[in-house]
Amino acid sequence: MAALLLFACAAACATTGDAALPGVREAQDMAGRGQLRGQARRPVQKQQEQEQQEQQAPAPPKLKQTPEQRLAAAQRWGLDQAPLVAPPPPGDKPRLTTPEWADQGPDLIPAPAHVPTDQKIAFLTIDDGAAKDREFLDMVRDLQIPLSAFLTDESAAEDYGYFRDLHALGVSIQNHTLHHPQMNHISEDEQYTEICGQQDILEREIGVRPTLFRPPFGDFDADTLAVAEECGARAAPLWNEEAFADRMDFRHDDQRFHPGDIILTHFNGPKAWGGTMCDMLRTVLRKVTEQGYALARLEDYA
Ligand SMILES: [Zn+2]
Repeated sequence: MAALLLFACAAACATTGDAALPGVREAQDMAGRGQLRGQARRPVQKQQEQEQQEQQAPAPPKLKQTPEQRLAAAQRWGLDQAPLVAPPPPGDKPRLTTPEWADQGPDLIPAPAHVPTDQKIAFLTIDDGAAKDREFLDMVRDLQIPLSAFLTDESAAEDYGYFRDLHALGVSIQNHTLHHPQMNHISEDEQYTEICGQQDILEREIGVRPTLFRPPFGDFDADTLAVAEECGARAAPLWNEEAFADRMDFRHDDQRFHPGDIILTHFNGPKAWGGTMCDMLRTVLRKVTEQGYALARLEDYA
């Protein structure tokens, strides 16, 4: 199932025009060199992390809506039920873990596919940035949907204004590299450029330095996680479900959400997957709501 999901991501990413950089595997002493570089920069990075914690913008206050208004808004967008509202996030973020199938060794930042919680919440995360659908902005605003976006510069760069508008709705903007390479096929220095380079661009374009990094295709190695931490990421979220315009794929055998699951989808349109971003959001909202789940914002838990 994992392979299937990864394949699906690869296919979706490919349809958005993302292409892996030609990778060059460097000599094995690269890891040692990286460690030295990491140690030299770590004190600066810790200081940056503290500044980032302070920089983290809280979600803007939501307009109070009555249940009747929430239902009316949902119906305007073709839904029978209003989306459920998540309880407030915990004061202390839970300790994240990496699933066995993605483990790259100790002392690395976590690469979680879910967030440990007892609450029936799930996290919708949207990758790349190819389709910039204005109707989707309206739907997110009307229904007050918490989201996280992981942007690749090559997909998002033509209109960062779209993503600033999304960010103004409380959507957290996170890092997905400059050029969408398969990270475990490029050198550690190239990985550094891909991640830190996009950190700098997003900080300039959005005004907030990301704290989460998602590896393209879900492929990475130990160097990726070390470099991501060096660039200021505190986790590298993976996923347990993938959403499309007309369906969802589940990693769990029971084909249901589990508490804290991370859902992957992409900024795609009719050409890539036969439906719009709004169709995708309707599909996700119907599925989570019928299973008693609310969407929450990953950045508040990870
Ligand atoms: Zn991607």
